[in-house]
Amino acid sequence: MTETFESIVTAEVHHQHRTAEVMASVRARAAKQGIIWLGPIEVAMDHKHLRARIEEGRAIVDCPECLGAEFLDESRMFMCQVCFNGKAGKKYIPVDVPKDWSAIQEVLLERPIRNRNWRHGEKLSDLKKENRLHGLDLSKDGE
Ligand SMILES: [Zn+2]
Repeated sequence: MTETFESIVTAEVHHQHRTAEVMASVRARAAKQGIIWLGPIEVAMDHKHLRARIEEGRAIVDCPECLGAEFLDESRMFMCQVCFNGKAGKKYIPVDVPKDWSAIQEVLLERPIRNRNWRHGEKLSDLKKENRLHGLDLSKDGE
């Protein structure tokens, strides 16, 4: 096993590896949609909050309007890079994560990357049980 990611991959982790050229391309596409990048952030306050999930170690938010998906941003705000939240007035949509989000990530990090998966509603205690069933070390496990 050569997978060595030491954290769940969020937007911040992912974008560390993006080149200036790629970011310029993303900004140009946003500008065509009328999005002024780095301008004031407008939030769709009335929009149903979105939920993050974790897939193979990547914290992801699915777009509610198209097939797009983005890495979870630490700001907990979502902007689809495909449809630019067009149906939400091109405003950012808040994203919810559970209260035990950090603990969930810690438990998943005990696993090989391909098994670092979590969906909304999946309990921390169940993730710990699964780890035990597979003989993974849970040094911080109090159960
Ligand atoms: Zn979209």
